[in-house]
Amino acid sequence: MTTLDGIAVYGHFIGGRERASADGRTFEVRNPANGALVARVAEGGAAEIGLAIEAAGAAFADGRWSRLAVSERHRILSRFADAIEAALPELATLESTCVGRPLREMRAQLGRIPEFYRYFAAVARTAEDAVTPFEGPYLNYVRRVPLGVVGQLTPWNHPLLILTKKLAPALAAGNTVVVKPSEFTPLTTLVLAQIARDAGLPDGVFNVVTGFGAGAGAALCSDKRIRKLDLTGGTETGRVVAKLAGENLIRVTCELGGKAPVIVLPDADLDRAAAGATFAAFIASGQTCVAGTRVLVHESQADALVERMVRRARAIRIGDPLDLQTQLGPLVSQGQLERTERYVEIGKAEGAKVACGGRRPAGELAQGFFYEPTIFTGVLPSMRIAQDEIFGPVTCVLTYRDVDDAVRIANDVEFGLAASIWTGDAARGMKLAERLECGIIWINDHHRIDPALPWGGMKDSGIGREAGLEGYREYTTTKSVIVNLDEPVDWYATNAVVRLS
Ligand code: NDP
Repeated sequence: MTTLDGIAVYGHFIGGRERASADGRTFEVRNPANGALVARVAEGGAAEIGLAIEAAGAAFADGRWSRLAVSERHRILSRFADAIEAALPELATLESTCVGRPLREMRAQLGRIPEFYRYFAAVARTAEDAVTPFEGPYLNYVRRVPLGVVGQLTPWNHPLLILTKKLAPALAAGNTVVVKPSEFTPLTTLVLAQIARDAGLPDGVFNVVTGFGAGAGAALCSDKRIRKLDLTGGTETGRVVAKLAGENLIRVTCELGGKAPVIVLPDADLDRAAAGATFAAFIASGQTCVAGTRVLVHESQADALVERMVRRARAIRIGDPLDLQTQLGPLVSQGQLERTERYVEIGKAEGAKVACGGRRPAGELAQGFFYEPTIFTGVLPSMRIAQDEIFGPVTCVLTYRDVDDAVRIANDVEFGLAASIWTGDAARGMKLAERLECGIIWINDHHRIDPALPWGGMKDSGIGREAGLEGYREYTTTKSVIVNLDEPVDWYATNAVVRLS
């Protein structure tokens, strides 16, 4: 990183060092809370993606990482985790400045990140290969090996956490990586790459090319040297990326949109459920794929729940993300703000009622992309606000008659990522969980994560899983070795029928 006229200038991170774009182009990163210029960043395209894939390919081919003793890989990833831990205050402030999320949320989220590298280092260190049953005097052992150069496309809502869910298993398994972070939030990814190098990750193993989806992103997805693509983003981007992966016959993991139901069963403690529903909806200003954006409550309890939720939503402190008292920051961009405003207008036109919020805060916050926590009531399942992912601080309250009705409404969207169930009886919650079409279900909680949790959705919420043992396996492939232990092979020497199995 250098500075020009007092503004930080970041290059790509390729082959262990920072590089400008060949044509010197840069783009701006701005603070969504006040519009201030934070940094200029190199704008990459096919040329820079090509260089990064070349560096990653060379690093994979010579085995400096993929064939390193696993104990050594474990040691370097553990050191990387320690270094991230030491850099957390700096990373949290930088991420908060670019994303607009309150620092108190950012610290809580980034505090989990070192665990992911430690967990996956341990998974690699303790991974056991298999010996399969094989008829006859043969030994068939199955080795799990890395894929090669993998491409990762990450979004702006949780830049470091989402990258880590992909990067930690990819590195632990021995792959080399090219990352294209979101144009809005590339800085912490670049800083992370430097931390990794300083912790001893060999050059070329973790490369970052900054730029736009249509340029650098598309070039990464089209390159035939890539062995897997891993995207978190919008569902439409998922379709584009999965199509390109299909053309190149490579693996793809897509973690896409969601419209998570928050199902409040009649036996739930309503105060707890209201606290949970507001937490589910408004963390990160609703800009998370698992945001609880449809609160399903029994028709007899709707008024009592809404009254509690509105009271809580109105008390949320909106303000400067870097102030530790702030509980809700701005949306990440003008585009997200306009999208949120558009959907609120659609909701009103559809006949839903705004119980609170539904506008931008006035005063000095008007210079940032702030929007008040918004709760819609009188929402029908068919309304667009109950079907589409808004990705802003907007939640809808819908009523159900009985549990069958709740299940029908919960499943009646194109997404299938997450849900939460609020109940006084965990067994009842587990029974209901069996009937929901989604990949992640919390009972009496929301948003909780762990490195061991396989993360991903059903239906249009994506394919494949991030993190957990499944996420690790998706960054490996198998190699079966069949050893003839004592049988001479001379197929053409006899006319006898010999079994080939
Ligand atoms: P995108 O899906 O466009 O972005 C995700 C990543 O993919 C970014 O790095 C982006 O680059 C890149 N990308 C975009 N288009 C392409 C392409 N054609 N080929 C390769 N890479 C591409 O998300 P947006 O930021 O546009 O957000 C749009 C909507 O997606 C949101 O409103 C929300 O509904 C949803 N979303 C869901 C997320 C989730 O966690 N599931 C995360 C983010 C968004 P760049 O940003 O530089 O253009």
